[in-house]
Amino acid sequence: MAKQRKIPQRTCLGCQTVRPKREMLRIVRTPTGEVIVDPTGKKAGRGTYVCPDRACLERALSGDRLTRALETPIGPELLAFLREQLVEKLMG
Ligand SMILES: [Zn+2]
Repeated sequence: MAKQRKIPQRTCLGCQTVRPKREMLRIVRTPTGEVIVDPTGKKAGRGTYVCPDRACLERALSGDRLTRALETPIGPELLAFLREQLVEKLMG
């Protein structure tokens, strides 16, 4: 009998859908307090995930969702920077 490997799943910050984390975009607050987009999905720190979808992304970045998810204040400039990077990833 073939062993089934468990695929790690995460909840999208935008739409709350659970999907395989490899398909998702990760935003992480590093141990030094930096908030960055993590293309490898392997950086240490508190992370949150969002679907590779423009609508989800916008929703995740609206209000104080990200601030609450990462438990750190995120100003409008940082938010704009993160959005730019995430949109770039979406475009491939
Ligand atoms: Zn989503």
